[in-house]
Amino acid sequence: MNFSAGPGALPIEVLLEAGKAVEALPETGISVLCMSHRSAWFRDVLDEAENNLRKLLDIPDNYHVIFMQGGSSLQFAMLPMNFLRGSYRHAEYIVSGYWSSKALIEGHIEGEVRVVWDGKDTGYTRLPGLNDLQLSPDATYLHYVSNETVEGLEFSWVPGLNDVPLVCDMSSNILASPVEIDKYAFIYAHAQKNLGPSGVTVCILQDEFVQQAKRTKLYSMLDYHTHIQARSVFNTPPIFSIYVLMLVTRWLRDKIGGLSAMGTINREKADLIYGVLDTDEAFYRVHSQRPFRSTMNIAFSLPNPTLEKLFLEASLREGFHGLEGHRSIGGLRISLYNAVSLDAAKALSTWLVEFIRQHG
Ligand code: PMP
Repeated sequence: MNFSAGPGALPIEVLLEAGKAVEALPETGISVLCMSHRSAWFRDVLDEAENNLRKLLDIPDNYHVIFMQGGSSLQFAMLPMNFLRGSYRHAEYIVSGYWSSKALIEGHIEGEVRVVWDGKDTGYTRLPGLNDLQLSPDATYLHYVSNETVEGLEFSWVPGLNDVPLVCDMSSNILASPVEIDKYAFIYAHAQKNLGPSGVTVCILQDEFVQQAKRTKLYSMLDYHTHIQARSVFNTPPIFSIYVLMLVTRWLRDKIGGLSAMGTINREKADLIYGVLDTDEAFYRVHSQRPFRSTMNIAFSLPNPTLEKLFLEASLREGFHGLEGHRSIGGLRISLYNAVSLDAAKALSTWLVEFIRQHG
């Protein structure tokens, strides 16, 4: 049972189908790893992946959906490169943890950026409310991370002002529950949590926002217009990753029944685990404050590192993989991405009860 923070668990049905496709695709008799990105087969894969995302997330027609490489880290750079470079206006960033701090660094390289809130003072254990943000109506964009994967903090509301384009790194909670897409100008998310394997990043861009990105000449690969015009095949894309992403969206559509159903399951899994951790707060020390707790990543620690080491070793023996905390804050972390089943969460909660019985 895989509780890794990323690359995370994928549905078993998807893994089995992808395994067969590596040998030979039923449709073509050729391995998915050897298919041309210019083939009609791959165009169908891209189209289905896009259409499934459009249906699942209810994406309106004035948004482009493109598949990019370079992970979310490239988006940290491409965003200010395309929208801030050469602009007389500034960009705004909410700094709520490890990943939003990384995005901010790239913003600084391209122009004037303002931090509208920083959770550093409380050790990134909480998120802001609307009144905490120092927003201005003339910003080029406002950037935030909807789920801080390292600290386990998830926004339960959408920040921002109506007239300022809102940009969101949704890498670790996209497709976890329904999203109000029309509040956003741009959403990006790498695949390796809820979408598929690493190698592909989904970008959902409002057309009106993209039109604002025409001020300076950029290298073709780093220009959003290039990828929109080329419909994600400007150069050779990560075919296998996109194929698996398509299978994952199909699974979510057909087996789970969409994002409302997924959201209910995710809530249930998270409640189960937090419920056990909360039975002894001196033993299981959850990093995030209660109102800001993530349904996807639960960062916590034990009273001492020796106990944490013991926990990791014993957990692995019990069949629970990927419970290490992020190297920046240490401790432990349980990730409950879409493909982690309710049964796996139940088994882990039983194990957490047993561990505290033995060592608490
Ligand atoms: N943003 C978030 C929220 C993340 O969790 C991560 C990585 N786990 C990144 C960005 C960086 O992604 P990548 O490794 O794809 O560049």
